[in-house]
Amino acid sequence: MNRKYNFSAGPATLPLPVLEEAQQQLLNYKDAGMSVLEMSHRSKDFTTILQETKTALREVVGIPDNYEVLFLTGGASTQFAMLPMNFLKNTAGYVNTGSWSKKAIKEAKLFGNVNVPASSEEQNFNHIPQNITLPEDVDYNHITSNNTIFGTQWSQFPQRGSAPLFVDMSSDILSRKFDVENFDVVYAGAQKNAGPAGVTILIMRKDLIEKTNTSLPSMLQYKIHADKDSCYNTPPVFQIYLVGLIAKWISAEGGIEEIEKRNIQKGKLLYETMDSLSDFYKGTAQQDSRSLMNVTFRLPSEELEKDFIQLAESKNFSGLKGHRSVGGVRVSMYNAMPLEAIEKLTEFMKEFAQKNS
Ligand SMILES: *Cc1c(COP(=O)(O)O)cnc(C)c1O
Repeated sequence: MNRKYNFSAGPATLPLPVLEEAQQQLLNYKDAGMSVLEMSHRSKDFTTILQETKTALREVVGIPDNYEVLFLTGGASTQFAMLPMNFLKNTAGYVNTGSWSKKAIKEAKLFGNVNVPASSEEQNFNHIPQNITLPEDVDYNHITSNNTIFGTQWSQFPQRGSAPLFVDMSSDILSRKFDVENFDVVYAGAQKNAGPAGVTILIMRKDLIEKTNTSLPSMLQYKIHADKDSCYNTPPVFQIYLVGLIAKWISAEGGIEEIEKRNIQKGKLLYETMDSLSDFYKGTAQQDSRSLMNVTFRLPSEELEKDFIQLAESKNFSGLKGHRSVGGVRVSMYNAMPLEAIEKLTEFMKEFAQKNS
Protein backbone atom coordinates (compact mmCIF):
# COMPACT_ATOMS: atom_id res chain seq x y z
CA MET A 1 0.00 0.00 0.00
CA ASN A 2 1.51 3.30 -1.09
CA ARG A 3 0.04 6.05 1.07
CA LYS A 4 1.38 9.52 0.28
CA TYR A 5 2.53 12.05 2.83
CA ASN A 6 -0.51 14.25 2.59
CA PHE A 7 0.38 17.83 3.53
CA SER A 8 -2.98 19.18 2.41
CA ALA A 9 -4.52 21.98 4.50
CA GLY A 10 -7.86 20.23 4.78
CA PRO A 11 -9.47 17.77 4.43
CA ALA A 12 -6.23 16.38 5.70
CA THR A 13 -4.40 13.25 6.67
CA LEU A 14 -6.06 11.10 9.35
CA PRO A 15 -4.34 8.69 11.75
CA LEU A 16 -3.82 5.35 10.02
CA PRO A 17 -4.98 3.31 13.05
CA VAL A 18 -8.26 5.25 12.98
CA LEU A 19 -8.79 4.53 9.28
CA GLU A 20 -7.98 0.87 9.88
CA GLU A 21 -10.42 0.61 12.76
CA ALA A 22 -13.13 2.27 10.68
CA GLN A 23 -12.34 -0.10 7.82
CA GLN A 24 -12.49 -3.12 10.06
CA GLN A 25 -15.87 -2.01 11.44
CA LEU A 26 -17.22 -0.71 8.16
CA LEU A 27 -19.50 -3.58 7.15
CA ASN A 28 -20.56 -4.77 10.56
CA TYR A 29 -20.17 -2.36 13.46
CA LYS A 30 -19.64 -4.34 16.68
CA ASP A 31 -22.12 -7.06 15.63
CA ALA A 32 -24.85 -4.53 14.92
CA GLY A 33 -25.23 -6.35 11.60
CA MET A 34 -24.84 -3.09 9.70
CA SER A 35 -22.43 -0.25 8.99
CA VAL A 36 -22.43 3.02 10.95
CA LEU A 37 -23.12 4.51 7.50
CA GLU A 38 -26.47 2.73 7.46
CA MET A 39 -27.51 3.24 11.05
CA SER A 40 -30.52 5.19 12.30
CA HIS A 41 -29.47 8.19 14.34
CA ARG A 42 -32.16 7.11 16.83
CA SER A 43 -30.73 3.60 17.25
CA LYS A 44 -29.19 2.39 20.46
CA ASP A 45 -25.84 1.81 18.75
CA PHE A 46 -25.62 5.35 17.42
CA THR A 47 -26.80 6.87 20.70
CA THR A 48 -23.89 5.06 22.32
CA ILE A 49 -21.47 6.28 19.63
CA LEU A 50 -22.63 9.87 20.15
CA GLN A 51 -22.23 9.71 23.93
CA GLU A 52 -18.83 7.99 23.64
CA THR A 53 -17.64 10.65 21.21
CA LYS A 54 -18.73 13.43 23.56
CA THR A 55 -17.10 11.74 26.55
CA ALA A 56 -13.85 11.15 24.66
CA LEU A 57 -13.73 14.78 23.50
CA ARG A 58 -14.51 16.03 27.02
CA GLU A 59 -11.63 13.95 28.34
CA VAL A 60 -8.94 14.85 25.82
CA VAL A 61 -9.79 18.58 25.64
CA GLY A 62 -10.70 18.95 29.31
CA ILE A 63 -14.20 20.35 28.76
CA PRO A 64 -15.91 21.33 32.05
CA ASP A 65 -19.47 20.18 32.80
CA ASN A 66 -20.90 23.66 32.37
CA TYR A 67 -20.08 23.51 28.65
CA GLU A 68 -22.24 21.74 26.05
CA VAL A 69 -20.70 19.80 23.16
CA LEU A 70 -22.62 20.00 19.87
CA PHE A 71 -22.12 18.42 16.46
CA LEU A 72 -23.56 20.52 13.65
CA THR A 73 -23.32 20.63 9.88
CA GLY A 74 -22.52 23.40 7.40
CA GLY A 75 -18.87 23.74 8.38
CA ALA A 76 -17.20 26.51 10.35
CA SER A 77 -18.47 28.84 7.62
CA THR A 78 -22.08 28.36 8.77
CA GLN A 79 -20.95 29.27 12.29
CA PHE A 80 -19.65 32.58 10.92
CA ALA A 81 -23.34 33.48 10.41
CA MET A 82 -24.97 31.44 13.15
CA LEU A 83 -22.95 33.00 15.96
CA PRO A 84 -24.01 36.58 15.18
CA MET A 85 -27.59 35.46 14.47
CA ASN A 86 -27.76 34.00 17.96
CA PHE A 87 -25.65 36.48 19.94
CA LEU A 88 -25.21 39.79 18.12
CA LYS A 89 -27.59 42.50 19.31
CA ASN A 90 -25.55 45.67 18.71
CA THR A 91 -21.80 45.32 18.26
CA ALA A 92 -19.25 42.50 18.28
CA GLY A 93 -15.44 42.68 18.32
CA TYR A 94 -13.54 40.69 15.68
CA VAL A 95 -9.74 40.49 15.60
CA ASN A 96 -8.78 40.32 11.93
CA THR A 97 -5.90 37.88 11.45
CA GLY A 98 -6.60 36.34 8.05
CA SER A 99 -9.02 35.18 5.37
CA TRP A 100 -11.17 33.20 7.78
CA SER A 101 -11.45 36.14 10.20
CA LYS A 102 -12.47 38.32 7.26
CA LYS A 103 -15.16 35.89 6.23
CA ALA A 104 -16.45 35.76 9.80
CA ILE A 105 -16.53 39.59 9.89
CA LYS A 106 -18.42 39.74 6.59
CA GLU A 107 -21.17 37.49 7.93
CA ALA A 108 -21.39 39.31 11.28
CA LYS A 109 -21.92 42.61 9.48
CA LEU A 110 -25.19 41.23 8.12
CA PHE A 111 -26.55 41.22 11.66
CA GLY A 112 -24.96 44.18 13.47
CA ASN A 113 -21.91 46.37 13.93
CA VAL A 114 -18.39 45.03 13.92
CA ASN A 115 -15.59 46.64 15.90
CA VAL A 116 -12.09 45.48 14.81
CA PRO A 117 -9.75 46.11 17.78
CA ALA A 118 -6.69 44.77 15.91
CA SER A 119 -5.81 43.67 12.40
CA SER A 120 -2.71 42.48 10.55
CA GLU A 121 -4.26 42.91 7.12
CA GLU A 122 -1.95 45.75 6.06
CA GLN A 123 1.04 43.38 6.38
CA ASN A 124 -0.78 40.66 4.43
CA PHE A 125 -1.58 38.90 7.72
CA ASN A 126 2.05 37.96 8.42
CA HIS A 127 1.62 38.17 12.20
CA ILE A 128 -0.74 37.97 15.16
CA PRO A 129 -1.24 41.38 16.79
CA GLN A 130 0.49 41.36 20.19
CA ASN A 131 -0.71 42.70 23.54
CA ILE A 132 -4.16 43.64 22.38
CA THR A 133 -7.04 44.70 24.57
CA LEU A 134 -10.42 43.34 23.60
CA PRO A 135 -13.35 45.77 23.76
CA GLU A 136 -15.66 45.41 26.79
CA ASP A 137 -18.81 47.10 25.51
CA VAL A 138 -19.66 44.45 22.92
CA ASP A 139 -21.97 41.43 22.79
CA TYR A 140 -18.92 39.21 22.28
CA ASN A 141 -15.39 39.12 20.88
CA HIS A 142 -14.14 36.72 18.23
CA ILE A 143 -10.66 35.46 17.33
CA THR A 144 -9.21 32.84 14.96
CA SER A 145 -6.69 30.70 16.84
CA ASN A 146 -4.73 29.45 13.82
CA ASN A 147 -4.67 31.12 10.42
CA THR A 148 -4.53 28.16 8.07
CA ILE A 149 -3.76 30.19 4.95
CA PHE A 150 -1.14 32.60 6.34
CA GLY A 151 0.63 30.18 8.69
CA THR A 152 0.18 32.18 11.88
CA GLN A 153 -1.12 31.06 15.27
CA TRP A 154 -1.84 32.71 18.62
CA SER A 155 0.82 31.43 21.01
CA GLN A 156 -0.97 33.12 23.90
CA PHE A 157 -4.64 33.98 23.77
CA PRO A 158 -5.86 37.44 24.73
CA GLN A 159 -7.57 37.94 28.09
CA ARG A 160 -11.31 37.62 27.85
CA GLY A 161 -12.42 40.71 29.79
CA SER A 162 -16.12 41.14 30.55
CA ALA A 163 -17.53 40.27 27.12
CA PRO A 164 -17.80 36.62 26.04
CA LEU A 165 -14.98 35.36 23.84
CA PHE A 166 -15.58 33.10 20.84
CA VAL A 167 -12.81 31.30 18.98
CA ASP A 168 -12.62 29.62 15.59
CA MET A 169 -10.24 26.71 16.25
CA SER A 170 -10.87 24.89 12.98
CA SER A 171 -7.23 24.28 12.20
CA ASP A 172 -5.67 23.70 15.61
CA ILE A 173 -8.27 22.14 17.89
CA LEU A 174 -6.88 18.95 19.52
CA SER A 175 -3.32 19.99 18.61
CA ARG A 176 -2.37 21.69 21.88
CA LYS A 177 -3.51 22.16 25.43
CA PHE A 178 -5.73 25.18 26.10
CA ASP A 179 -8.05 26.29 28.85
CA VAL A 180 -11.65 25.94 27.64
CA GLU A 181 -12.71 28.35 30.38
CA ASN A 182 -10.84 31.20 28.69
CA PHE A 183 -13.62 31.01 26.05
CA ASP A 184 -17.38 30.95 25.93
CA VAL A 185 -17.67 29.31 22.52
CA VAL A 186 -15.05 27.17 20.79
CA TYR A 187 -15.90 25.91 17.32
CA ALA A 188 -14.14 23.97 14.60
CA GLY A 189 -14.87 22.37 11.29
CA ALA A 190 -13.49 18.88 11.93
CA GLN A 191 -11.60 18.32 8.68
CA LYS A 192 -8.19 19.70 9.64
CA ASN A 193 -7.32 17.97 12.87
CA ALA A 194 -10.40 16.32 14.33
CA GLY A 195 -12.06 14.20 11.68
CA PRO A 196 -13.42 14.14 8.15
CA ALA A 197 -15.31 16.99 6.47
CA GLY A 198 -19.00 17.24 7.25
CA VAL A 199 -19.21 17.86 10.97
CA THR A 200 -18.55 21.00 13.02
CA ILE A 201 -17.68 20.67 16.69
CA LEU A 202 -19.02 23.30 19.09
CA ILE A 203 -18.10 23.70 22.74
CA MET A 204 -20.46 26.25 24.24
CA ARG A 205 -21.06 27.53 27.75
CA LYS A 206 -24.45 26.20 28.82
CA ASP A 207 -25.78 29.38 30.42
CA LEU A 208 -25.01 31.24 27.20
CA ILE A 209 -27.24 28.90 25.22
CA GLU A 210 -30.16 30.13 27.31
CA LYS A 211 -29.50 33.68 26.08
CA THR A 212 -29.65 32.93 22.35
CA ASN A 213 -32.13 34.26 19.83
CA THR A 214 -35.15 31.90 19.75
CA SER A 215 -36.95 33.56 16.86
CA LEU A 216 -34.63 32.04 14.27
CA PRO A 217 -35.38 29.09 11.97
CA SER A 218 -35.00 25.90 14.02
CA MET A 219 -31.82 24.67 12.34
CA LEU A 220 -30.09 27.95 13.20
CA GLN A 221 -30.93 27.90 16.91
CA TYR A 222 -28.26 26.58 19.26
CA LYS A 223 -30.92 26.04 21.91
CA ILE A 224 -32.82 23.53 19.78
CA HIS A 225 -29.67 21.62 18.86
CA ALA A 226 -28.63 21.55 22.52
CA ASP A 227 -32.07 20.48 23.79
CA LYS A 228 -32.11 17.65 21.23
CA ASP A 229 -28.49 16.61 21.92
CA SER A 230 -27.40 17.32 18.32
CA CYS A 231 -30.20 15.06 17.00
CA TYR A 232 -32.89 17.63 16.13
CA ASN A 233 -32.43 16.50 12.54
CA THR A 234 -30.27 13.73 11.13
CA PRO A 235 -26.73 14.43 12.31
CA PRO A 236 -23.66 13.33 10.28
CA VAL A 237 -23.48 9.94 11.98
CA PHE A 238 -20.35 8.57 10.33
CA GLN A 239 -18.39 11.81 10.86
CA ILE A 240 -19.30 11.87 14.55
CA TYR A 241 -18.17 8.25 14.85
CA LEU A 242 -14.80 9.15 13.27
CA VAL A 243 -14.34 12.16 15.56
CA GLY A 244 -14.86 9.73 18.44
CA LEU A 245 -12.23 7.33 17.07
CA ILE A 246 -9.78 10.22 16.73
CA ALA A 247 -10.37 11.46 20.27
CA LYS A 248 -9.81 7.91 21.55
CA TRP A 249 -6.67 7.63 19.42
CA ILE A 250 -5.33 10.81 21.05
CA SER A 251 -6.02 9.33 24.49
CA ALA A 252 -4.28 6.11 23.57
CA GLU A 253 -1.24 8.04 22.29
CA GLY A 254 -0.86 9.75 25.66
CA GLY A 255 -3.34 12.63 25.45
CA ILE A 256 -3.06 16.14 24.07
CA GLU A 257 0.13 16.82 26.05
CA GLU A 258 1.90 14.08 24.09
CA ILE A 259 0.37 15.22 20.77
CA GLU A 260 1.44 18.80 21.50
CA LYS A 261 4.97 17.63 22.26
CA ARG A 262 5.14 15.92 18.88
CA ASN A 263 3.74 18.97 17.11
CA ILE A 264 6.40 21.16 18.73
CA GLN A 265 9.08 18.66 17.65
CA LYS A 266 7.83 18.67 14.05
CA GLY A 267 7.61 22.47 13.99
CA LYS A 268 11.09 22.86 15.44
CA LEU A 269 12.63 20.60 12.81
CA LEU A 270 10.88 22.28 9.90
CA TYR A 271 11.44 25.88 11.01
CA GLU A 272 15.09 25.20 11.91
CA THR A 273 15.67 23.70 8.48
CA MET A 274 13.97 26.63 6.81
CA ASP A 275 15.93 29.18 8.85
CA SER A 276 19.24 27.41 8.23
CA LEU A 277 18.61 27.87 4.50
CA SER A 278 17.21 31.36 4.78
CA ASP A 279 18.88 32.54 1.56
CA PHE A 280 16.67 30.07 -0.23
CA TYR A 281 13.54 29.52 1.89
CA LYS A 282 11.85 32.66 3.24
CA GLY A 283 9.17 32.14 5.84
CA THR A 284 6.16 34.41 5.30
CA ALA A 285 5.05 34.57 8.95
CA GLN A 286 6.85 36.63 11.59
CA GLN A 287 8.84 34.48 14.04
CA ASP A 288 6.68 35.25 17.06
CA SER A 289 3.50 34.31 15.18
CA ARG A 290 4.56 31.09 13.48
CA SER A 291 2.03 28.28 13.30
CA LEU A 292 2.82 24.70 14.25
CA MET A 293 0.04 23.49 11.97
CA ASN A 294 0.67 25.31 8.69
CA VAL A 295 4.16 26.41 7.69
CA THR A 296 4.33 28.86 4.79
CA PHE A 297 7.43 29.87 2.85
CA ARG A 298 8.59 31.25 -0.47
CA LEU A 299 11.46 30.22 -2.72
CA PRO A 300 13.67 32.62 -4.73
CA SER A 301 11.32 32.50 -7.75
CA GLU A 302 7.87 31.28 -8.71
CA GLU A 303 9.51 28.96 -11.19
CA LEU A 304 11.53 27.30 -8.45
CA GLU A 305 8.38 27.02 -6.36
CA LYS A 306 6.66 25.19 -9.20
CA ASP A 307 9.66 22.87 -9.61
CA PHE A 308 9.78 22.24 -5.86
CA ILE A 309 6.13 21.27 -5.65
CA GLN A 310 6.32 19.11 -8.76
CA LEU A 311 9.44 17.25 -7.68
CA ALA A 312 8.00 16.83 -4.18
CA GLU A 313 4.85 15.31 -5.66
CA SER A 314 6.96 12.73 -7.51
CA LYS A 315 8.53 11.78 -4.18
CA ASN A 316 5.12 11.17 -2.58
CA PHE A 317 4.87 14.53 -0.78
CA SER A 318 1.40 15.71 -1.70
CA GLY A 319 -0.57 18.94 -1.14
CA LEU A 320 2.31 21.39 -0.71
CA LYS A 321 1.08 24.20 -2.91
CA GLY A 322 0.54 27.41 -0.94
CA HIS A 323 -2.77 29.25 -0.98
CA ARG A 324 -2.95 31.73 -3.87
CA SER A 325 -3.13 34.71 -1.48
CA VAL A 326 0.34 33.88 -0.08
CA GLY A 327 1.83 31.81 -2.91
CA GLY A 328 4.85 29.57 -2.43
CA VAL A 329 4.72 26.44 -0.34
CA ARG A 330 2.51 25.49 2.58
CA VAL A 331 3.29 22.47 4.73
CA SER A 332 0.24 21.49 6.74
CA MET A 333 1.23 19.08 9.46
CA TYR A 334 -1.70 18.27 11.67
CA ASN A 335 -1.71 15.71 14.49
CA ALA A 336 -1.76 12.70 12.19
CA MET A 337 1.37 13.74 10.31
CA PRO A 338 4.27 11.68 11.70
CA LEU A 339 7.66 13.18 12.58
CA GLU A 340 9.19 10.80 10.04
CA ALA A 341 7.38 12.69 7.25
CA ILE A 342 8.95 15.98 8.36
CA GLU A 343 12.36 14.32 8.57
CA LYS A 344 12.03 13.17 4.97
CA LEU A 345 10.61 16.48 3.79
CA THR A 346 13.40 18.52 5.41
CA GLU A 347 15.99 16.22 3.77
CA PHE A 348 14.30 16.92 0.46
CA MET A 349 14.33 20.68 1.20
CA LYS A 350 18.07 20.59 1.89
CA GLU A 351 18.83 18.69 -1.32
CA PHE A 352 16.59 20.95 -3.39
CA ALA A 353 18.18 24.11 -2.02
CA GLN A 354 21.67 22.75 -2.62
CA LYS A 355 20.93 21.81 -6.23
CA ASN A 356 19.21 25.07 -7.07
CA SER A 357 21.18 27.82 -5.35
C1 LIG B 1 -10.89 25.61 7.04
C2 LIG B 1 -11.25 26.71 7.96
C3 LIG B 1 -12.54 27.25 7.98
C4 LIG B 1 -13.64 26.82 7.04
O1 LIG B 1 -14.22 25.65 7.43
P1 LIG B 1 -15.44 25.00 6.64
O2 LIG B 1 -15.72 23.83 7.51
O3 LIG B 1 -14.95 24.66 5.27
O4 LIG B 1 -16.55 25.97 6.60
C5 LIG B 1 -12.81 28.24 8.90
N1 LIG B 1 -11.87 28.69 9.75
C6 LIG B 1 -10.61 28.20 9.74
C7 LIG B 1 -9.60 28.74 10.69
C8 LIG B 1 -10.27 27.20 8.84
O5 LIG B 1 -9.02 26.71 8.83
